[in-house]
Amino acid sequence: MRKVQLGASVLELVEGDITQQDTEAIVNAANTSLLGGGGVDGAIHRAGGPQILEECRKIGGCPTGEARITTGGRLRARWVIHTVGPVYRDGKHGEAELLASAYRNSLRLASEQGIQSLAFPSISTGAYGYPMADAARIALRTAIEYLKDHPEVTRVRFVLFGSAALRAYETVLDELLPPEGRRPA
Ligand code: ADP
Repeated sequence: MRKVQLGASVLELVEGDITQQDTEAIVNAANTSLLGGGGVDGAIHRAGGPQILEECRKIGGCPTGEARITTGGRLRARWVIHTVGPVYRDGKHGEAELLASAYRNSLRLASEQGIQSLAFPSISTGAYGYPMADAARIALRTAIEYLKDHPEVTRVRFVLFGSAALRAYETVLDELLPPEGRRPA
């Protein structure tokens, strides 16, 4: 668990289940059809109920790197931001830029909707095969950059599934923001 203050905003790393978060929005690692899948996607639709899928059907899909929003159905979170990360091939097919775009576009959508707090899973690191440390670096860099210019988003939480994922994110955060130079939140 880590909590760092970035200007007016807080960045948090926790181990847990994205479906249980009490942030205003949670982010779904969806696929381009937006019609549900395994992993985070399946868990969110199971926990949130059929209304989310109904809204996703009307939206009609989402290209890789972009984001769309629905309500949260029965979830504690009022909103679900659905984004599509890249399938990892070899790192030479624009994967890094697409993963950064997925995070950036999710954050932009939150700003546009007046959502102050949101929780991300580790996008693309499950079925889509993105190496965890590389994905963590992109996720955290993109969030830190965004929060610098966007104080309207006051809390970004990364919800990591399992202790290995949490440790990977903690290690990268400590590299990006060395603890000695950090203000405790
Ligand atoms: P992708 O298709 O983008 O790779 P996955 O859902 O397969 O998405 O996995 C993304 C990451 O989310 C993986 O690291 C996986 O361990 C993690 N994960 C799976 N279920 C949950 C959950 N309920 N809450 C948070 N993270 C989860």
